[in-house]
Amino acid sequence: MADVFSPKKRSKVMQAIRSTGNKTTELRLIKIFKSHSITGWRRKSKIAGSPDFVFPKQKVAVFADGCFWHGHDCRKTVPQTNAKFWSDKITKNKKRDKLVNRTLRGEGWRVARFWECELGADAIKPKMRTLVNLLLEKTAKKRGE
Ligand SMILES: [Zn+2]
Repeated sequence: MADVFSPKKRSKVMQAIRSTGNKTTELRLIKIFKSHSITGWRRKSKIAGSPDFVFPKQKVAVFADGCFWHGHDCRKTVPQTNAKFWSDKITKNKKRDKLVNRTLRGEGWRVARFWECELGADAIKPKMRTLVNLLLEKTAKKRGE
């Protein structure tokens, strides 16, 4: 499919997608946390990579990653106009994500990343189990000390 936007306009459109996308995924995650009776998260954390949520007590950092920006396999579509620009950008984001994971782990954080496309009703279940386990593990460890 040919790109209907000029590069400049495309750039504006993608920026708009980025900001609204993040907001929606964050709000959706909050809903999911609540439905799983998960509490204790904080937003707008200043630690490496600025995770969307942190659980300071358990030292768990949670990211809600937009599939386009973070290069999830579920989306093979890179805009045809400026394809190289976008794929470079996405590659850079993926590299940064890895670095952020490493940095946080080095500082004793556990990292959980959710894909935007996983936030649907059923797709989220295995991931939530992982997150709940991360949260419980730390709590259990603390109790045992
Ligand atoms: Zn995805």
